[in-house]
Amino acid sequence: MTSPHLTERALQEAAESTSLLPDSQAAHLRGCRLCQGRVATYQHLFTAAAHLPPPVFAFDLTASVLAQLPRPQPAFPWVLSGVAALVLAVVVAFLAVFGGQLVPILQSLGTGLGAGLLAVTGLVVAGQCLELLTRHRQQMRLLTFS
Ligand SMILES: [Zn+2]
Repeated sequence: MTSPHLTERALQEAAESTSLLPDSQAAHLRGCRLCQGRVATYQHLFTAAAHLPPPVFAFDLTASVLAQLPRPQPAFPWVLSGVAALVLAVVVAFLAVFGGQLVPILQSLGTGLGAGLLAVTGLVVAGQCLELLTRHRQQMRLLTFS
């Protein structure tokens, strides 16, 4: 017998199935009582481990896992809505105070630039509202609680 004894890994593989071994190691195992004994020990160990009862934890595993999951976000970004309302209030207050002075400025443009500016602003705001609504609906679809 010239080949060395099987490594621990090879012994464990042989304990599961000798067909996992390369031919040289399988030939050594057939002729070596020491390695056969080690393989038998691993087989006993694997059998005993397979028949162990499932582990019982001294703590509530489900509760500890759930505690580490990220908290669900609010369904609607109320903070964003508050900020939007605040910005809208500031704009309305600005227009109430300085609106009288803005009208002649916009009228002096006279080329429709003011109307175009208002139209573009309206489109941007409408687009942002649509995007926000679309995103909100997508997030609501992702929330499927069982
Ligand atoms: Zn051996």
